Amino acid sequence: MQNLSTLWATRGDWFTSYGREQSIKDYILLTNQLLWKRQGSFFVSAILAALYFDPISIFACYVFVILTEVLDELLGSKSKTWDGRDPVVGRQILKRIALNTVASGLAISVFIINIAVQQEASAGHFTPLFFLFSASVFAAMYNSQMMGILILRLSIYGFAFLYISLLDVFRYRPPLSSHIWLEFFTIIFVLYFISDISLKFYLGYQERREQMNLIQEENEHTKDALEVKSRFLATVSHELRTPLTSIIGSLELINNDKLGLLPLGLKPLISIATRNGKRLAVLIEDLLDMQKLEAGEVVFHLKPINANDLVYEAIKATSGYASKLGIYVTTEPCEEACQITGDHNRLIQVMANLLSNALKFSYEGGTVKVRVENLGGRIRISVQDEGLGIPNGAKDCVFGKFSQVDSSDVRKAGGTGLGLNISKQIVERHNATIDYVSALGVGSTFFIEFDQLTNESRPSANLEPLVKSA
Ligand code: ADP
Repeated sequence: MQNLSTLWATRGDWFTSYGREQSIKDYILLTNQLLWKRQGSFFVSAILAALYFDPISIFACYVFVILTEVLDELLGSKSKTWDGRDPVVGRQILKRIALNTVASGLAISVFIINIAVQQEASAGHFTPLFFLFSASVFAAMYNSQMMGILILRLSIYGFAFLYISLLDVFRYRPPLSSHIWLEFFTIIFVLYFISDISLKFYLGYQERREQMNLIQEENEHTKDALEVKSRFLATVSHELRTPLTSIIGSLELINNDKLGLLPLGLKPLISIATRNGKRLAVLIEDLLDMQKLEAGEVVFHLKPINANDLVYEAIKATSGYASKLGIYVTTEPCEEACQITGDHNRLIQVMANLLSNALKFSYEGGTVKVRVENLGGRIRISVQDEGLGIPNGAKDCVFGKFSQVDSSDVRKAGGTGLGLNISKQIVERHNATIDYVSALGVGSTFFIEFDQLTNESRPSANLEPLVKSA
């Protein structure tokens, strides 16, 4: 086991590593947090002692203790501004902590010794020794961030312990069989016990710090790996997009007989190739969107938007898809004011995703209802279908990345599993919310909610701020 002297010797240069600065900061933070706990115990001890011993000397010592506490507070407030970087300031703070530890340790010891001095030998020194024991355990528990400081304080308490236990030995020179000697030997045992628990607390703190450092390092590695993945994704998607666009374009030309009549047997094959090419293009667009949103590279052009108009436009854009699937789309516009602030294109993208999902997961002949409501200052746009529905507990899957509730090979509807994740990110960058309610076999209602844009909430000077996503 590591002993106290090695720990003291290996403290090395306090400011060469991040850990030392953190120890000082942790120490000061905890000292400040425990301010009232300490004050409470000092006050109660002072009252208790004043009831049984000379109150004037007790309160005089108490004032001395409080003065060191004030000093501690001053030190705490000065070091609040320290950013942990400048080692010179760090050393100054450390010196002040050491000085204050000496002052506070002495004040507390004098306070306790004063009680012991006033006691009769026959009564023993249970009260002062127990006060001292409590103070030592308190220090061991809460000063374990800095071993040097802890040793300093405990050494002062150690002297006080010895002083009290030897007080009657010198006063009365009792035989070895007397309870005075018993008290002395018990104190030696207690001192060993306090050193041991101090060491345990110190090592516990160090272990926690090391674990924190490890977690931080792991975090950095994960961030780096994510960064590489994200750049890789962006590059690959970009590189794929351009040739794919020309492939799809060429296939469409061929399919539309623009380059001469196609042999009949080839047409279905070209159609399948075009469809799959388009699916690939959607996936690439989604990947690029996701990567840009996550990297904070999407610029939002915020403007006042009428939610009814937004809904009409989105429905118009998906009407072809709806009639192809044989699904009716109805609207229930908002009768009251329904202005919101948002990026028009991005919100159309969200609406298109909600509508295409509603259509995709509906049965032929079904109806999709799109409603705009003003719920007392919140504008809600909801898309309700009578389709498959979503089982309970699938929210993470629905809004997750590449996740689909039915990911089996036999599912009817295609998709990337990215649409709602992207929609959620876009909606949240508008300080809005997205959610759904659903019942299997009955249908689902997805809704987004925005703050209503009113004359009061409308920014008067600049109505089109450019908001870069965080
Ligand atoms: P996808 O491209 O698969 O549609 P989304 O992120 O848009 O990806 O949706 C994720 C999953 O959420 C879908 O695969 C589907 O399982 C479920 N989902 C979304 N909207 C609906 C809906 N209206 N009805 C039933 N399930 C839905």
